[in-house]
Amino acid sequence: MPARRLDGAAAAAAFRAELTPRVAAFRAAHGRAPALDIVLAGDDPASHVYVRNKERAGVETGLAVRVHRLPADTPADEILALVTRLNADDGCDGILVQSPLPPGVSKAESQVIFDAIAPAKDVDGFSASNVGRLVQGRAALAPCTPTGVIALLDREQIPIAGRSAVVIGRSEIVGKPMALLLLARDATVTICHSKTPDLPAVASRADLLVAAIGRAGFVTPAFVKPGAVVIDVGINRVNGKLVGDVHPDVAAVAGALTPVPGGVGPLTIAMLLRNTLIAAEARAGE
Ligand code: NDP
Repeated sequence: MPARRLDGAAAAAAFRAELTPRVAAFRAAHGRAPALDIVLAGDDPASHVYVRNKERAGVETGLAVRVHRLPADTPADEILALVTRLNADDGCDGILVQSPLPPGVSKAESQVIFDAIAPAKDVDGFSASNVGRLVQGRAALAPCTPTGVIALLDREQIPIAGRSAVVIGRSEIVGKPMALLLLARDATVTICHSKTPDLPAVASRADLLVAAIGRAGFVTPAFVKPGAVVIDVGINRVNGKLVGDVHPDVAAVAGALTPVPGGVGPLTIAMLLRNTLIAAEARAGE
């Protein structure tokens, strides 16, 4: 039997619909919409598409979204000055600096910029203080992609506690926070990466397998225990088409599987909007 399709787009639409009345209530109580400021520096085409999607979804949900588009040659200190201004701006609830910053901004300078975002407005959940809270199991603003995965599993009534979870990928934005969120929900978690020997043997012990690698079709049926739930976070462009990290043949082995596109991507955006509302409510003392 082919795997059940876990429809991330439908789940994301439902999560956004749940936010709309809360956003309206915030607006009624405070005379303004929760506000998200997005800093988009440079002309990376994928970043422009992502930001357009975030802006559109935010506006549809009733948020005030301001996109600060900066040319690719903007010096790091100007981007930093903008973040500092937004930190002090009482009308700004959430700040998102779209990654990657332009090539002219060094890795060290990027880190300084990301570190400058006030934790209370850090809707990506990447700041050291929000990551620390995540490690301690008391996250206020957790990274959007893994939060979306947990929300999807809950909506699909897929149990997490006591199950064996394997996360392939250990990035700061997906792999590590994914593992921490699964651990907080009492899964037994294994994190794999490029130095993990015999990956198929490790992965195929998982009841829940999350692929966040960035390699098209990397996860073949050999990685998958029959009936396992497989979450495909990967977004790879192959011959102009978007494909995930999970090979299509996995659908014949897995019990449930997220598609690409229409899986984790829309959930990431829905969780960004949710984090903006959470940040706005927290700043308003609600
Ligand atoms: P990174 O490149 O930061 O991390 C990739 C991870 O995969 C690393 O930990 C790396 O290991 C591991 N890896 C790479 N090659 C192998 C291999 N051969 N065997 C085992 N592990 C390997 O990527 P991200 O975490 O940022 O993103 C992962 C994917 O998810 C990408 O396709 C990205 O586009 C997508 N993505 C999707 C989102 C969505 O909303 N759907 C949001 C964010 C990302 P090591 O650490 O050892 O190098």
